[in-house]
Amino acid sequence: MFDSDRPYIIAGPCSAESEEQVMGTATALKAVGVGVFRAGIWKPRTHPGCFEGIGEKGLDWLRRVKDELGMKVCTEVASFRHVEACLKAGVDILWVGARTTANPFLVQEIAKSLAGTDTPVLIKNPISPDLELWAGAVERFRRQGVDDLGLIHRGCTTSKKIIYRNSPEWHVAVGMKSRFPELPFLCDPSHMAGKSEYVAELSQKALDLGFDGLMIESHRDPSCALSDAAQQLTPDGVAALLSSLKVRRNDSDEAGYRAAIETLRARIDVIDKEIVEALGERMEVSREIGRIKKESNISIIQTLRWESLMAGVRADAAAHGLDPDDIAAIFDRIHGASVAEQNRIIEDK
Ligand code: PEP
Ligand code: MN
Repeated sequence: MFDSDRPYIIAGPCSAESEEQVMGTATALKAVGVGVFRAGIWKPRTHPGCFEGIGEKGLDWLRRVKDELGMKVCTEVASFRHVEACLKAGVDILWVGARTTANPFLVQEIAKSLAGTDTPVLIKNPISPDLELWAGAVERFRRQGVDDLGLIHRGCTTSKKIIYRNSPEWHVAVGMKSRFPELPFLCDPSHMAGKSEYVAELSQKALDLGFDGLMIESHRDPSCALSDAAQQLTPDGVAALLSSLKVRRNDSDEAGYRAAIETLRARIDVIDKEIVEALGERMEVSREIGRIKKESNISIIQTLRWESLMAGVRADAAAHGLDPDDIAAIFDRIHGASVAEQNRIIEDK
């Protein structure tokens, strides 16, 4: 689906709203070099009563974008009816939205309705950081013989307080990339960011991590958008973003090597950060256990519990191709730090 030298860019409004908005935005995006136009026709909104998409008549506008501007067009499908309407209208690329990927019934229905066609399908991650659910959606399409597939990572819902609308959860994307290295992989920095000011930094991060391209929301007048107003860029904003992105190329063996190393290091940095965050969370739980043990007058070290924990860690290590002794040694240190912390809590009057 993608040419490998430059990031593959899809851009367009969250929703198709009117023929003028679609044609105006598409014309402006084409002028800044975008070749693939997106627009939602049916919108999965959190609350009823919000703008739920213009419906099928918007497909005629996408047809105009395709015929008059020569751009490829893509939209979201969430049912077999959507698929039928899109195939009839000649939509070039379909995508499955995050809420739909989370629903195996719908994924199955969509996959089945695409059997025997060759329209490319991009599958967004489910809203929860659930790699298996995402992988399952890929498998459902493949079982129907729908093989022109790609992935879009748009981040995940979280209860944590973060600056972005959706938590990047890069490790989920990294896991999918290792599971399906052959699939083109895009990032949707717009839904991840939630605010236009964060789109550039997330786009750069995605390219640094080795994503093949970006799906960016762009509206000719974002402040008037009927959905996702805060996160959309103007077409000029898209142009500025694209020219600011640092893209690593494989010009020579040497440069290729460096690019690969930098991509892998960026992934390692993300993973390390997550390890440290998880350790912080673990210690917080351990402190809580310390407080409860203190209240109930229970000793800190319970040998049986420690032994079963270590047996589990060793088994997990082996299952992940790691040396159980190495991992056990690391957990010894982690356990030691927890015990020391619980000691402090118990001694604290
Ligand atoms: C969209 O792309 O407009 C959309 C609804 O995205 P997501 O499924 O990622 O929420
Ligand atoms: Mn949107």
